[in-house]
Amino acid sequence: MTTKIWHPFTQHGLGEPIPQIAKAEGALLYTEAGREIIDAISSWWVQTHGHCNPKIVAAIQEQSARLDQIIFAGWTHEPAQQLAEGLSEFLPSGLDHIFFSDSGSTAVEVALKMALGFWHNEGHSRNRILVMDHSYHGDTIGAMSIGARGVFNNAYAPLLFDVGSIPFPEQGSEQATLDALTVFCADPDDPPAALIVEPLILGAGGMKVYSPDILAEMHRICAQHDVLFIADEVMTGWGRTGTVFASEQAGITPDIMCMAKGLTGGVIPLAVTAASAPIYDAHFSQDRAKTFFHSSSFTANPIACAAANANLQIWRDEPVQQRIDHIIQCHSDFADQLRQQHNISAVRQCGTILAFEIDDAGGNYMSALGPELLRFFTDHDVLLRPLGNVVYIMPPYCITDDQLFSVYKIIQEAIDHFA
Ligand code: PLP
Repeated sequence: MTTKIWHPFTQHGLGEPIPQIAKAEGALLYTEAGREIIDAISSWWVQTHGHCNPKIVAAIQEQSARLDQIIFAGWTHEPAQQLAEGLSEFLPSGLDHIFFSDSGSTAVEVALKMALGFWHNEGHSRNRILVMDHSYHGDTIGAMSIGARGVFNNAYAPLLFDVGSIPFPEQGSEQATLDALTVFCADPDDPPAALIVEPLILGAGGMKVYSPDILAEMHRICAQHDVLFIADEVMTGWGRTGTVFASEQAGITPDIMCMAKGLTGGVIPLAVTAASAPIYDAHFSQDRAKTFFHSSSFTANPIACAAANANLQIWRDEPVQQRIDHIIQCHSDFADQLRQQHNISAVRQCGTILAFEIDDAGGNYMSALGPELLRFFTDHDVLLRPLGNVVYIMPPYCITDDQLFSVYKIIQEAIDHFA
């Protein structure tokens, strides 16, 4: 018997080919046979400066020869301290306590535990988590509980906890979202512990965009009712929406913020949950029972922290914002072109993320069009992974004009073929 790989979010029963990548550089992936594939979704939204960035690779090499791993409960190391200090240059002011973990999902789990721990240690009974319809926060049990319910998690429903859901602020119906949030927040019988949102754009839920004003207003309502505000910036962080963090565009400082993916430039797993002073202070005590009881083996792994420090240095030294602004302009021109076409709808852009829908009766994630589009793009040497009939681009910032325009061209060919 030989053991075989069981891939994530992959239905092996459909017998779809699984391309093998041998190496990567910048925005390009290469197969062993030398086929070049443009990575137009930053390998699931993680890569920011491109694959095998020499500065990040060097930092990993250097750190791995010096200190590879050390328990982080009660011990510390220089790369983690440097990173915590460096993050203060980038985070909204007031988020001055840095808790490390390993993935976006764990960053979210940590945020939920911090929120409940805060209320517990303060002696209040606030347990309910508020969420936004269509959200995605990861695939661990807590993260699934606060995400959209459906085909992805039907089988695991008995494991999931109840939440309060507010509607997504569709354009023109934003007031309904704010009203629903106010009703939950003002409920004297079951005051919520926290609201968690993906700021400005819901990723896996279909690249659904809403305005900074609504984000600011949701934050205001939560603050008014002492409901903690958690920003899940796992996808939006590190420049995706045009600013380092999406929260900046609403001028808010969340009580808790989650980040992962682009924290190391997308090279190696590392996550941070940043907390404001009151959250930390509620756990700071002579009483050991008030400890924040969370860890995993590789918390703040030094090699991952060194990669993240190299990422921060790239942001300081290189014209990253200029690269982002250039992608935003190119996307905006292509969006205008898309808007003029039949059978294309809901063209939207949020910073470096451009999305649109190919009109399709199925119209959801399970639409048959999704796998057909995926195959088409792969056959044309572009890594794009539509969410059902929603096609989106989220490239690394190092993508060249030639590569970006090739992506647009293949998308146009797909539209001509399928729409
Ligand atoms: N939160 C958001 C907004 C995400 O988009 C994702 C992943 O796409 C996660 C959390 C989970 O991150 P990870 O896959 O690193 O666990």
